[in-house]
Amino acid sequence: MAKKRRKKTKKFLKKFFILVLILLITLMVTFFFDKKSFNKLTNNIMLEINKITSKIENTIKKYIKEKYDNIDLSDELTVMYLDVGQAESVLIKSQDEYMLIDAGNNKDGEKIVKYFKYLGITDFKYVFGTHAHEDHIGGMDDVILNFNIEHFYMSDVITTTKTFEDVLDALEEKQVKFETPKIDDEFSLGDANIKVIYVGNDSENLNNSSIVLKLTYKNIRFLFTGDAESSVEKTILDKDIQADILKVGHHGSSTSSSEKFIKNVSPSYAIISVGKDNSYKHPNKKTLNTLDKYNVKVLRTDELGTIIFTSDGTQFNYTNINTNIDGDK
Ligand SMILES: [Zn+2]
Repeated sequence: MAKKRRKKTKKFLKKFFILVLILLITLMVTFFFDKKSFNKLTNNIMLEINKITSKIENTIKKYIKEKYDNIDLSDELTVMYLDVGQAESVLIKSQDEYMLIDAGNNKDGEKIVKYFKYLGITDFKYVFGTHAHEDHIGGMDDVILNFNIEHFYMSDVITTTKTFEDVLDALEEKQVKFETPKIDDEFSLGDANIKVIYVGNDSENLNNSSIVLKLTYKNIRFLFTGDAESSVEKTILDKDIQADILKVGHHGSSTSSSEKFIKNVSPSYAIISVGKDNSYKHPNKKTLNTLDKYNVKVLRTDELGTIIFTSDGTQFNYTNINTNIDGDK
């Protein structure tokens, strides 16, 4: 048997050698007698090689894309500013309870769901849509359809966009109520307290229909402002808005982050959820200057990817990881 196989291999090698020889002779002949055809032939060979290597590269890239950075969620408090490009989504875990503020763009939905499932999430105690713009509730229908949601909150300023209709349809399908919180309402998430600072009712400018929330865990405070602009900031200026970590309003646009507001919140860190090279040119220089003036350290999702804060209620740490949930990537 072994002899037969060796004979077969020998035969194959012989054939292969002859084939290579013919190819070489053809190449040499065309090279000497017809340089044009020779160039064409070599170009075609190079093109085929490039095609094969790019196919291999794409397969490798696809494999890497589906990998996430490992992360241990804190047993106490985790606040994750997800990198969803030019959009927004914040995942919060306090003890064993989960809450979500916004769900990125439509095309982020599927990826967000996949990532949350990877994290082992099955239930959300609270899901908030800060306002009805696509970059905040685009992926919300996917979230509603894939997880158990105890309470779903949005302001009652409604729109007729397909994105918003999709959210309503998903709620109906899962029989989840659409609830609107009241200003000063308080909720508990694990041992953390969530306070509703503001619920907008501006139907002309949806940004100002945003819900503003404050999370307090022992001594550490987070403020989430959706896309609320300066006029809302002015309204809540005298409220309990002081925070250690501020999610900057409206992706760092100049329409938010007025000086008085930043001064009153007096955060040590500011998170800007923003897409790389976005067409809005967010974050605005004016916003960055204001934050700089008040010595606020800026962390941007376009530079760091997903940003994660963990806290035991007296101190906090942050890190950044690769989550691959931006639908544009
Ligand atoms: Zn937005």
